[in-house]
Amino acid sequence: MKPLEEARSEVLSSVGLLGVEQVPIWQGRGRVLATDVVAPENVPPFANSAMDGFAVRAADVSAAGSVLEVIGDLPAGSSTDIEVGPGQAIKIMTGAPMPPGADTVAKVEDTSTEGSKVTISTAVQPGTSVRPAGGDVPKGQVVFTAGTRLTPMHIGVLATIGVGQPQVYRRPRVAFMSTGDELTPPEAVGLEPGTIRDSNRPMLLSLLEDAGVEPVDLGIIPDDPDVLRDALRRGSEADVVVSTGGVSMGDYDVTKMVLQGDADVGFWQVAIQPAKPFAFGHIGDALFFGLPGNPVSVLVSFEQFTRPALLKMQGARSTLRPQLVASAGETLETDPEKTVFVRVFVDGLEEGLPTVVKSGGQASNVLSAAAAADGFAVVPRGTSVVERGDPVTVEMFKWPESREWTDGR
Ligand code: AMP
Ligand code: MG
Repeated sequence: MKPLEEARSEVLSSVGLLGVEQVPIWQGRGRVLATDVVAPENVPPFANSAMDGFAVRAADVSAAGSVLEVIGDLPAGSSTDIEVGPGQAIKIMTGAPMPPGADTVAKVEDTSTEGSKVTISTAVQPGTSVRPAGGDVPKGQVVFTAGTRLTPMHIGVLATIGVGQPQVYRRPRVAFMSTGDELTPPEAVGLEPGTIRDSNRPMLLSLLEDAGVEPVDLGIIPDDPDVLRDALRRGSEADVVVSTGGVSMGDYDVTKMVLQGDADVGFWQVAIQPAKPFAFGHIGDALFFGLPGNPVSVLVSFEQFTRPALLKMQGARSTLRPQLVASAGETLETDPEKTVFVRVFVDGLEEGLPTVVKSGGQASNVLSAAAAADGFAVVPRGTSVVERGDPVTVEMFKWPESREWTDGR
């Protein structure tokens, strides 16, 4: 059996970078920057008011109770050449550019007006409530480096600096299929005896979308070598082919039968649980991932091999899920021969450390326990038991949102 790390580095070493294209930021979510982004403009582009109030000279408001002459009005979106002279003020709204001469804003709550006069009730320090030009992002600064995967916040920043078409890596096209004579589409009415719902394919579609790829659904493929061969051929026109099922030791493990003659696909036993059987290689120019059939094994092998590969080919700097060190909230007994992925959720905080407990049954068909989990507690090979209170690394695939686990802060 291959250890996890060896299997993963073997997979990743055969992954190359895809080409580069420009996309409108409107379609940028999840795309990976192919170049550093340098700010072509200052953000904000001009010094402006952080408050509704009066633009003044600091020297005029160094003491409480100064009375100034209001000489103009500046709503956001307007600008003026009129200079604020000594003893003068311009009424200004949040976001409006600071008029010449003024260096400070007295907020409206600290003022009272009568006719053309405004009284500033407090002393105001120079520069108060003024947002300087370039105070957020100065022109010429490297804002994001190549390899950054764009979140909604990155997209907002690209918009503020006027980068509407960033250079990003192309999205891989990924053809995917479920194999098995027992599979019934999830939307079918009723189940024939002996059949089950195809849960892998909709889950895979979702996992693929989350990894930023362009999915191509090849559907449910029966355990028929000719049909499978044809599906694999069609799939190989994509960048990547992902199948589930048929890579194990059974009599009807057709994926294995069809591909075994092909020297370019290896059938591996990876020392992980779940998801020990796993096939990897090339079909034509496409990378091939033959995931096992059981849904939790699909999830684990996708997370450990396919997702990192898909992110690597898109140029992402970081290809692994965020990890945290948690405290085991209960005893975890695992197979010391394998790296074991235990479905857990964060249950609370103990002395500042999150505690995790199993989210349900741990058999490889129990997908409900994966839906209830926040991540996988990763119990390394060589360990047979994690005692309650021991530290354990957790790969978080989502952040707890429906459970209270903060300590009240
Ligand atoms: P296999 O490796 O093809 O023998 O599949 C292993 C187990 O996973 C069997 O119990 C299958 O019925 C189940 N399985 C295979 N494909 C799917 C699927 N698409 N959705 C749900 N369960 C599946
Ligand atoms: Mg099967």
